[in-house]
Amino acid sequence: MQLTLMGKNMQHGSDNSEALRQLSTELTKEIAYRQAAEQQLLSAQAALELCASERTLELEDALQALQKSQERLELALDASQLSLWDWNLVSDEIHHTRTEAIFGLKDHQVRGVLTDLRPLLHPDDLHVLRTAMIEHMKQHTDAYIVEYRIKHADGHWVWIEDRGRAMERDANGRVLRMLGTRRDISKRKQGDEELRLASSVFDAGSESIVILDPYYTVLAVNQAFTTVTGFSRDEAVGHTIDFTRLPEALGAQYQHVRASIERDGSWQGETLGLRKNGKVYPQNLRIHVVCNKKGARTHIVGFFTDLTVRRQAEERLNYLTQYDDLTGLANRALFHKRLQQAVEHARQSGDRVVLMHVDLDRFKILNDSLGVEVADEILHTMSQRLMQLLPAANTVARLGGDEFAIILDGALSRSELSDLAASVLACIRVPVAVAVGGNKLVISASLGVSILPANAQDPVALISQANLAMQHAKHLGGDNVQFYTNQIQTFTLERLELEQALRRAIEEGQLEAYYQPKLTLPDGVVRSAEALVRWNHPQRGLLASGQFIELAEEAGLVTAISEQVLEQACQQAYIWLQQGMPIRMAVNVSVSHVRQGNLVPLVKSVLARTGLPAHLLELELTESQMLENTQDTIAIFKELRALGVFLAIDDFGTGYSSLSYLKRFPATCLKIDQSFIRDVMHNDEDAAITKAIIAMAHSLNLLVVAEGVETQAQMDFLKAHSCNEIQGYLISKPISAQALTEFMLERQSAG
Ligand code: C2E
Ligand code: MG
Ligand code: MG
Repeated sequence: MQLTLMGKNMQHGSDNSEALRQLSTELTKEIAYRQAAEQQLLSAQAALELCASERTLELEDALQALQKSQERLELALDASQLSLWDWNLVSDEIHHTRTEAIFGLKDHQVRGVLTDLRPLLHPDDLHVLRTAMIEHMKQHTDAYIVEYRIKHADGHWVWIEDRGRAMERDANGRVLRMLGTRRDISKRKQGDEELRLASSVFDAGSESIVILDPYYTVLAVNQAFTTVTGFSRDEAVGHTIDFTRLPEALGAQYQHVRASIERDGSWQGETLGLRKNGKVYPQNLRIHVVCNKKGARTHIVGFFTDLTVRRQAEERLNYLTQYDDLTGLANRALFHKRLQQAVEHARQSGDRVVLMHVDLDRFKILNDSLGVEVADEILHTMSQRLMQLLPAANTVARLGGDEFAIILDGALSRSELSDLAASVLACIRVPVAVAVGGNKLVISASLGVSILPANAQDPVALISQANLAMQHAKHLGGDNVQFYTNQIQTFTLERLELEQALRRAIEEGQLEAYYQPKLTLPDGVVRSAEALVRWNHPQRGLLASGQFIELAEEAGLVTAISEQVLEQACQQAYIWLQQGMPIRMAVNVSVSHVRQGNLVPLVKSVLARTGLPAHLLELELTESQMLENTQDTIAIFKELRALGVFLAIDDFGTGYSSLSYLKRFPATCLKIDQSFIRDVMHNDEDAAITKAIIAMAHSLNLLVVAEGVETQAQMDFLKAHSCNEIQGYLISKPISAQALTEFMLERQSAG
């Protein structure tokens, strides 16, 4: 447009030259301005470019530094085995590093805390983790650290140490994002566990352990060490064992131990140990030297056990194998040893050996009625007395139970021996005070004597002869001395034969119940009878109970006999009942029945089998037998009484029952022993006792039966004193069932 203007101006001549000049000036200015501007632009561009390149360089540096630091971080994380995690609590999404190393899972398999991680957590550890997190979320803690177990993809548990902290919270403080690290601490945990185990083994072990450095300075001791030695941990640790300053008893031994350790690296054996109180004790010791990998000695470890208790037990055992624990006397084993020695010595010197066998009388009853403790006390007292009486005896031994043996060597004459034996019985008879009721008991014994070589040639025979003689003394009523003789031997053999025959008799049914009627006073009617066993001996004819019942007791045959009699008697009583002659049938039972515990079922079954009503059966138990096993006896007889059976106390007056005992015993009847009735007419005491028994029995609501009534005068006496029933030869001897049937029929017809 300016060029167009210029052309127009030229067409109008010189007027236009001024304009042109002005235009040119302006143009020049314009160019200059433009050039300046361009210049400015250029320099600005240069400055800018410089700036940009500088910035680029800076950025590159920064980027490089960042890359380096990231590499370093990764290296550090890698070296520390730490895994980083970043958890968005809003979306539950979590990002980890080292996922595979810790969980054995790919990243995408562990995306959600609740969905993927929570199921892997060990149930026992849930609580720990939850508590720590909640505490932190509630801002009670700045961060949390917990240890828990996670199930690895291959199934094993991995111990994790987890540290975390909240990074973002909303306005209400709710956590939106958490960051943290995880670390596999399984190895450390295992190590901890092993250490814990080792230290608990160290401390809880029953064996004492001491750990020393190579210069015998104590580094550690366990609890058992302290218990055994009395040195506390503090007193022991740091202390160096000075072998030169050990007590004399230990010094030489430990020098030897030390030499072995130095030479062989170990030692084992029994030594004496030293307690803090200066006392030595036996111990079993093992010492080992411990070396490091290079073979240099680093420690010396000692294990030891205190043998004191074991030694005491061994000594005690040794004592027990030779001595009786209760009495302190030699026991059976030592007795045999001593007797053997005495016999050998006697053979060489031509001397004699005397053996006395002592057995306390009726000791079993004492044992049962007064209890084992009192019985033991009595045995102890008797042993003391024997020891005091016989200081010169070779041996006083307890053979067991209430049996004692005395070995005497040397030359005592027969009469001296008799005196000595008599003084043994006398010392036993001295009343002994027992704890029960402040009573004094008089105990007797039976004593058998045998002499080697007069009677026996060897210890075995000597023992058996003294025993036979003792049994003979017992058989004669106890409280007496018997010297062994050949007659005793014969007598014993006879008894043995009789026993065999009795066994056969029971099996072959040679036993038969006889019946002795009892007369009711004052009306003179027979309402009851007692069954008494008889033996139809194939050679010796009819034997009364007195001839074999004691033997049967000794041989343990009495229950079998009583059972047969009970069966026969109940059958017979039932027959008489059917025949219109109701008889209360009394049957003797033995305390062995009570001991065996089958009396009640036996009676029940016999009554059921025979059909006899229970009130027509009466059981008799002697007073002395009643006193055995008192508690059991009372219980069993109460059961029988409950069945309706009558119960009589036989041979009353010969035992020692007390009124209080009688009251507790559910008896229905007392049978006054025939020894009182025999002299009742001539002996005032017996008469008085008889009257007293009747009065007492009546006051206890018991029937009274008098046994062994042989004369009319006795009967009159008893009638006058209101005795309820009498039994004896005056009425009838024990007779067969057939004979008693006839007896009763006769009396019935007589009126
Ligand atoms: P026990 O029960 O006191 O029996 C009374 C004993 O005195 C009977 O002796 C009897 O024959 C005898 N006797 C009866 N009246 C008179 C008399 O007027 N004068 C004399 N001197 N004696 C008379 P037995 O039959 O020899 O019986 C002795 C003991 O044997 C019985 O004494 C009893 O304790 C026991 N016994 C008998 N049969 C059995 C039985 O079947 N089982 C059990 N366990 N013991 C029995
Ligand atoms: Mg009787
Ligand atoms: Mg009797």
